[in-house]
Amino acid sequence: MTGTGLPLRFAGGHYEEPPPATRLSVDPESLEQNLAGLPGVGKVTARRLAAFGLTTVGDLIDHFPRRYEDFRDRKDVRDLKLGEEATVRGVVERVNADRTARRRVTVVRAVIRDATGAVEATWFNQGYLARVLEQGTLVSVRGTFRPQSGRATFLVRSHEILGEDDGETLHTEGLVPVYPASEQVSARLLRGVMQSVRLHMRRLGDPLPSGLRVRERLPGRADATLSVHQPRSPAEARQARERLVLEELVLMQVGLLLHKRRQQERVRAEAFAPPNALSEGFLSGLPFVLTDHQRAAIDEIEHDLRSRAPMRRLLQGDVGSGKTVVALHCLLRAVESGLQGALMAPTETLAGQHTETTASLAGGRASVELLTAALGARERREALARIASGEAQIVIGTHALLQEDVAFRALGLLVVDEQHRFGVQQRDELVRRAEHARRAPHVLHMTATPIPRTLALTVFGDLDVTTIAGVPAGRQPVVTRLVEESRRGEGYDFVRRQLRKGRQTYVVCPAIDESESISAATAVAEAERLRTGEFRDFRVAVVHGQLKTTEREAAMAAFKAAEVDVLVATSLVEVGIDVPNATVMVVEGAERFGLAQLHQLRGRVGRGTAKSFCLLFSSAQTGASQARLGALLETNDGFELADRDLEIRGEGQVMGARQAGVPDLKLARLARDRGALLRARDLAAEILAGDRELERPEHVPLRLAVEAAFGGELAWLLRA
Ligand code: ADP
Ligand code: MG
Repeated sequence: MTGTGLPLRFAGGHYEEPPPATRLSVDPESLEQNLAGLPGVGKVTARRLAAFGLTTVGDLIDHFPRRYEDFRDRKDVRDLKLGEEATVRGVVERVNADRTARRRVTVVRAVIRDATGAVEATWFNQGYLARVLEQGTLVSVRGTFRPQSGRATFLVRSHEILGEDDGETLHTEGLVPVYPASEQVSARLLRGVMQSVRLHMRRLGDPLPSGLRVRERLPGRADATLSVHQPRSPAEARQARERLVLEELVLMQVGLLLHKRRQQERVRAEAFAPPNALSEGFLSGLPFVLTDHQRAAIDEIEHDLRSRAPMRRLLQGDVGSGKTVVALHCLLRAVESGLQGALMAPTETLAGQHTETTASLAGGRASVELLTAALGARERREALARIASGEAQIVIGTHALLQEDVAFRALGLLVVDEQHRFGVQQRDELVRRAEHARRAPHVLHMTATPIPRTLALTVFGDLDVTTIAGVPAGRQPVVTRLVEESRRGEGYDFVRRQLRKGRQTYVVCPAIDESESISAATAVAEAERLRTGEFRDFRVAVVHGQLKTTEREAAMAAFKAAEVDVLVATSLVEVGIDVPNATVMVVEGAERFGLAQLHQLRGRVGRGTAKSFCLLFSSAQTGASQARLGALLETNDGFELADRDLEIRGEGQVMGARQAGVPDLKLARLARDRGALLRARDLAAEILAGDRELERPEHVPLRLAVEAAFGGELAWLLRA
C-alpha cells in the first residue's frame, strides 16, 4: 500500500551503493559517469552542475526541457521588419564598443552582413563581445529590429558564433529547449553541456520491449531522448515527450503492481466461507434496494474475500453513495466465516454513528463492540477481553483500534472508513501490525474524497479500486448557491423558510489557522449570535473539537433526533455524518475551504428525498477561490470536481498527495497525462500477465529499469 513510502526514483537516479542488479542496467557505466570527466565540461561547470543536482550523465539526460522557444523564423536581413523578432545569420563586419552618456552601460555594435544586406546589431552590457566578435566571424543572432536613438538597429537577445563547418546552432535557431535553470546554471549553459552527452543519449538502451514498441508505435528511447532535447519540429517534440512519459508511467505501474503482488504473496489471509443466512438476511432486510453499483462493489469484494490473497482494495464513492452498507455486508461476511470484522473511523462521532447504524441494520445478528479513546479504564479492559475472546464479532472504533494491547482472536477483515483522514503512518502501522500477526486481514479502504482516477493509480497504485458511481436513485442533486456578503439577509430568510417546514440546517464555520481552540471559539460565538439573532425562533446547538466526547455526542444525537434545528459546527461535521432531515448546509467563509472539503460538506445534505441546498457564504475571493466555488456551482459530481481540483492546484497539493507518497515523476504530469497513465496501467498489467517475474529476455531491461526506479526497496522485494 501507499504508506510504505517507496522511495521512487526514476531512470537515471543514481545510488550511493547501487544494488548489484542495477549495474547490469543498459550501459550503466556511461550513465553513472561523472559529468566532470566529459569533454566540454570544465571543473567549475561541473561543480555548478553538481550544486544544481546534476552529477552524472544520467542526471543530465533526465533533465528535460520545460518548454521550447520557437526560433524557426530565420530571415534574410532584407526581410527584417520593424518591431518583429527574428533570427538572422551573417558575417561580422565592424565592431565597436561605447559607453552610454551616463557611463553605466556598455553598448557593443556590430554590422552583420548576409547575402541580402547589412544590419547593425546592438548588445547591452556585454563589453567582452567587442573582443570576441572579430571581423569575419559567422554569427547567428536572435533579436528584435527596432528604432533606437533615431536609427533602426537589431537588439540582440541571444547570439552564437557558428563554426565554419556545419553552422549548427543551439540557442538562436529552430526549436530551442528551455531548461529549468538557476542563477549559476543557465539554460544556455545546459544547452551547451547537453551536447556533451548526445553520444550517451544515442546509446541509451530501451526498457520497453520492442514488440510493444512496434505495436504501440513508440519511438525508441534513444531517439525520443535526442528529440526531446533537440527536436526538429513541435510534432517531434510532442511525440518524444509522450513516449518518455509513457515509459516513466509504465515503469511506475509495473513497480506498483509487482509490489502489490509481493505483499500479497508474503502474507496469507483467511478465505471467507460462502455467504449464508447472516449476510443474506441482512441484504434482504434492508429498507432499500441496493443500487447496481453497490451490488457490483459487493461482488467484487466478495471475490477478494474468498481468496487467501489478502485483499487490499479501495472503495471509493461520492459522499452519500452508500458505502456503509457495503462495508457492513463485508463485516457480516467475516462473522459468518467465523472471523471478526473491524471498522476504523477517523472520529469518535463517526465511530459512534457507525455503531448505531450497524446495530440497527445488522439488528442482533452480530455482537458489536465500540472501542474509542473515550472509554473508561474498566470499560476498556472489558471490551478488550471480549475482542480477545472473539465474543465481540464486529469491533468499531477510532485509531484506538491500533493500540498495542488490542488483540483480536481472529481478525478477518478490517474496513478503514474515510481512509484519507488517517495519516500515512497510521495506515502503515495498520498493515505492519496485521502482517506481524502473520495472518493478514483483508483490508477495505473507503473514501468519499473523490480521488481522481489518475491519482488513485499512483498514490494507491497498489490497491485495487472499486468505484460506486452516482448516488441511490430518488436523490435530488443539492442546489448550490454562492451568497455574497450583501445578500446575507436573503440567505437567512431562505434558511428560515426551510426550518419552518421542519427541516434542519448545518452552519459550518471555517477552521482558523489550524488552531482548534480559536475555531471552536468562533463557532461558539457564531452559535450565540444566531441563537439571539437570525435563528432566535429555532433551537441552535454547537459542536466543535474542544467539546468533551460525551458533549459532542449528545449534541449530535439531539440533532439527529431533530431536537435541534440548527447545528453550528467547525468543519468536523465534514466527515460521514448522516442526518437525512437536514436539507441545508450553510458554509461560512467558503473561500477558505478547499474544493474537496466543500464537496464533502455539501454531501452532508441531500441524503433524503427532500430537495437540499448548500449556501456558500463568501466575502473576499481570490482567483483560485473563485475557480473553486465556480466549479462547485457547476457540478455535483465529486469525481469531476476532483479532476478540476487537480487542474486548479496541481497534483502536488491535491489532498496532501505528496505526503501520501505520490512518486516524484520527472516528466509526467498527472493532470496533463491522464490518458497516458491509464494506458501505462494497462500495458503494465499486460506485460506482467504474460511474464510474472519479468524473466523473459525481452523483459530484462524493463525489470532492471524498474528496480533502478524504485530504488533498493523493490529490488529487495523482487529478489525476496
Ligand atoms: P457514504 O457513501 O457517504 O458513506 P452512506 O453509506 O452514509 O454514504 O449512505 C448515505 C445514505 O444513503 C444513508 O442514509 C444510507 O442508509 C442510504 N442508502 C444507502 N444505500 C442506499 C440505497 N441503495 N437506496 C437508498 N438509500 C441508500
Ligand atoms: Mg461514509
